[in-house]
Amino acid sequence: MEYLPDFKVVRPATVQQAVAAYAAHADARYIAGGTDLMVNVRRGIVAPQTLIDIGGVAEITAIDAQQNGGVRIGAGVTLNELAAHGLIAKEYPAIAEAARQVAAPTHRQVATVGGNLCLDTRCLYYNQSEWWRVSNNYCLKNKGEVCHVAPSGSRCFAAFSGDLAPALMVFDAEVEISGPNGVRSLPLSEMYNDDGAAHLKLEKGEMLTAVIIKSGDGWRSGYAKARVRGSIDFPLAGVAIALKRQGDRLSDIRVAFTGTNSYPVMLRKTEGLLQGPFDVDALTALLPKQITPMPSTFYPPGYRRKVAANLTRALARRLFEES
Ligand SMILES: Cc1cc2nc3c(=O)[nH]c(=O)nc-3n(C[C@H](O)[C@H](O)[C@H](O)COP(=O)(O)OP(=O)(O)OC[C@H]3O[C@@H](n4cnc5c(N)ncnc54)[C@H](O)[C@@H]3O)c2cc1C
Ligand code: SF4
Repeated sequence: MEYLPDFKVVRPATVQQAVAAYAAHADARYIAGGTDLMVNVRRGIVAPQTLIDIGGVAEITAIDAQQNGGVRIGAGVTLNELAAHGLIAKEYPAIAEAARQVAAPTHRQVATVGGNLCLDTRCLYYNQSEWWRVSNNYCLKNKGEVCHVAPSGSRCFAAFSGDLAPALMVFDAEVEISGPNGVRSLPLSEMYNDDGAAHLKLEKGEMLTAVIIKSGDGWRSGYAKARVRGSIDFPLAGVAIALKRQGDRLSDIRVAFTGTNSYPVMLRKTEGLLQGPFDVDALTALLPKQITPMPSTFYPPGYRRKVAANLTRALARRLFEES
């Protein structure tokens, strides 16, 4: 870890002020809980001259039930607040379970929904101190020219490892974004690129203000993750499932993953699972072409693929039986 470099901190009180402050300062960066960003600053990976601290922006800190049955979650809501919220715990257990498993209790006290959805991708050649990275000639994602994971390739395969994204995606989440060109919204699943070096489709100066999820009524949901240290660790693989059961069949199922690809993956081609009696092997058979970890962590891709499949199998069975 390096000493903290000099930087200026600006504390806006509204979204409008935050966006304006970003535009007014060269090399600015939004900071919420800081539990992801400050680690990268201490490692010398990023050195923003100005931090726009959005922790005082009150308008992004509420969780509001919507008239149509959905819920609007402010980007500044902390993970502890999210996990403890009555409606979330009752109607959206996958979200509460995912929030509860992020990092450790002290992180979750300040870590936010927006920061979790926008956190940087991870790789064993990247999440290292400056002296470690320089001795390796850096890498494609940061200051270098070669990807040590796939040296003949021209892109970065660092993994997206946020726990919340898949849990929100199974409830058809949309994100609300404010920026220099106004306000826009898009499905959360479309906010990511399949590129570990540029995984967010946010324009310069854009800020996430809220996530809106559809009604969880009638869905049975859950989140499961595997990590090395149970008390504090990113997922080797994480899976969120929401399903609806009708007799021995599924009437609907949504499955999403984290920790495996450079973006949170919404599993495609699940329609076939609704045809006959629920077949968990048919579900896991969909994974190999879509869940594609690379050797970017200490744990080999084959192992992470198996972990993802086993988590999926166990969680899907449990949710189906409980329905
Ligand atoms: C030891 C350790 C273990 C961890 N384990 C996990 C884990 O198991 N699972 C997990 O998901 N995460 C983990 N994390 C990462 C981090 O703690 C969480 O992802 C947390 O939710 C990040 O939120 P934050 O508010 O602290 O983000 P910050 O650090 O403030 O910001 C993260 C990034 O998002 C950007 N950002 C923040 N808010 C916004 C916004 N509203 N709009 C646009 N951009 C924004 C920032 O500019 C920055 O690039 C871990 C971190 C540590 C240090
Ligand atoms: S996947 Fe390659 S380019 Fe990306 S962080 Fe790892 S080594 Fe660097």
